[in-house]
Amino acid sequence: MSEDGTEILIVGDGPAGLTAATYLARFRRRVLVADGGAPRARWIPLSHNMPGFPRGITGDAILERMTEQATEYGAVIEDGRIERLTRDGDGFITRLNGRDLRVRAVLLATGVVDHHPDLPGVERAIERALVRICPICDGFEAIDKAVAVIGDDDKGVREAAFLRTYSDRVTLIHTGPAEALTEQAEMARLGIELIRAPIDNVRLDGDRVTALSWGGTFRSFDLVYSALGTSANAAVAEALNARTGEDGRLFVDAHQATSVPGLYAAGDVVRGLNQIAVASAEAAVAATAIHNALREADGWTVS
Ligand SMILES: Cc1cc2nc3c(=O)[nH]c(=O)nc-3n(C[C@H](O)[C@H](O)[C@H](O)COP(=O)(O)OP(=O)(O)OC[C@H]3O[C@@H](n4cnc5c(N)ncnc54)[C@H](O)[C@@H]3O)c2cc1C
Repeated sequence: MSEDGTEILIVGDGPAGLTAATYLARFRRRVLVADGGAPRARWIPLSHNMPGFPRGITGDAILERMTEQATEYGAVIEDGRIERLTRDGDGFITRLNGRDLRVRAVLLATGVVDHHPDLPGVERAIERALVRICPICDGFEAIDKAVAVIGDDDKGVREAAFLRTYSDRVTLIHTGPAEALTEQAEMARLGIELIRAPIDNVRLDGDRVTALSWGGTFRSFDLVYSALGTSANAAVAEALNARTGEDGRLFVDAHQATSVPGLYAAGDVVRGLNQIAVASAEAAVAATAIHNALREADGWTVS
């Protein structure tokens, strides 16, 4: 255990890490959250599918409330990134802000990084919900809109097909090589329009409308979804040979344990649905499993 008494390290201060921090602090565990900054949740302009918030809530407000709740029960949140974990007996040793930390268990709640389309002004457009990332989150707010999906492989087709639930004006702008698109017959069957355009010819314009042009032609859409995928922040686990899928996200068991003993994971970094409700649910499962494993190690369970 660390000199300051920290037993459990949570890496990441998004919804998964903060939910786990609240649970573990309420289990009376000494828990430290390493805050690497810029959780994905910060990008959410207004979430309408967060349980309990019928009029919606911003990503910032969600994080603020979760931080308040975790610290209320004694969780400590410290700015800084965890670059490496090393096995230390049954636990782990790491460094944070120049000091060694010895902990009994680690929860990775490190999330993913979005591959945004390389368009000038894209970050501002995401803030204004003109460029969107997650049709599961906000497809409902695209009902009857003229929707474009930017993709470079068949993921774009799948996302465009998903959006047909909401609009009959769905266009796929395929910016990748021709051979990366294999589902054209399905697109035609579903009534999805196809535009092939290099990303250089795609433009964001105006306050409410996203405008796109290619080959001298000009078309406007109400909003654009990016289907360019994500990269998992799983390097710390990979260095310990944790099992990952093809997409780089971590495999976990029913208790959110990775293939490395004592290392748990929750949220977007784990294979599954990238959603706050899911991240929080996984974090609750992981926190309870960690607490019970430590109780067992300390002989505090009934056999
Ligand atoms: C534009 C947008 C809109 C969305 N809308 C919704 C919505 O309406 N509803 C919904 O449910 N979901 C929505 N989502 C998805 C939601 O944001 C994610 O599912 C959620 O944030 C996942 O939480 P997380 O804790 O796993 O990861 P994150 O929120 O990404 O937090 C991970 C944290 O880990 C930190 N970290 C990473 N590596 C390290 C390290 N080595 N050391 C220390 N810290 C590290 C990162 O800096 C980050 O702070 C949206 C996402 C986007 C981008």
